[in-house]
Amino acid sequence: MFEFLALFVLFYIWHTLGVTVGLHRLLAHRSFSCAKPLEYFLVLSGYLAFEGSPIWWATIHRAHHRHDDTELDPHSPRFGLFNAHIGWLLKRSYESHINPNIHAKDLINDPVYRFLEQGGVWHRAHILAIVLCLSFRLAILLIFGWVPALASLLAAVAVFQVPLMLNVLCHIPRLGYKSFATADDSVNIWWIAVLALGEGWHNNHHACPGSAKTGLKRHEIDPSWLFILAMKKLGLVTRVNISSASR
Ligand SMILES: [Zn+2]
Ligand SMILES: [Zn+2]
Repeated sequence: MFEFLALFVLFYIWHTLGVTVGLHRLLAHRSFSCAKPLEYFLVLSGYLAFEGSPIWWATIHRAHHRHDDTELDPHSPRFGLFNAHIGWLLKRSYESHINPNIHAKDLINDPVYRFLEQGGVWHRAHILAIVLCLSFRLAILLIFGWVPALASLLAAVAVFQVPLMLNVLCHIPRLGYKSFATADDSVNIWWIAVLALGEGWHNNHHACPGSAKTGLKRHEIDPSWLFILAMKKLGLVTRVNISSASR
């Protein structure tokens, strides 16, 4: 049991950092730069938590920031909790105002991301992601046995829920606090910051979306930022963007 729990926590941290640092702060916001192999590793770490095509992820997330809490936002809880949580995920293709060829120009020509995107047909990209994620667990099962395989699978399923939950709860004003008077409903929620390794400081993030650091006050601990900082100290990442509000 101890082995299972320890592995679950390790896989949870790994995949969460893949989502927060790889897919979110690196790919969607370009808040820092790194060599392509490290970028692929970080993005893959998130992809393996059933996160879907990286181009799709970044495109939808950029649309969220561009239209936050308006009718054009892909997942604002102002227009229904079900759609904000998983309803938007069940659509078949991009809405007309969201176009990866325009809004993810920096990613669309990458051959790996292009393959995972499956021509922008959502269900094909989602099925490919599920097959690859399950194949990864099958490989762990065959090489290391069922305990690490099950810990990895359950951790990935748990991590899959984190951004979906964050999309909803961090845009419900009564559940948290605002440090910045942004026009959207984004708020900071401490316990989501714990689960999402720093991403719960969501109002700070909406105020400074390009910043690699989102925890600003003393109590706003941001493990994803600490990870980026550690990579910077090791010389693995460059051009780390920290907005003036984050200094
Ligand atoms: Zn948001
Ligand atoms: Zn963002």
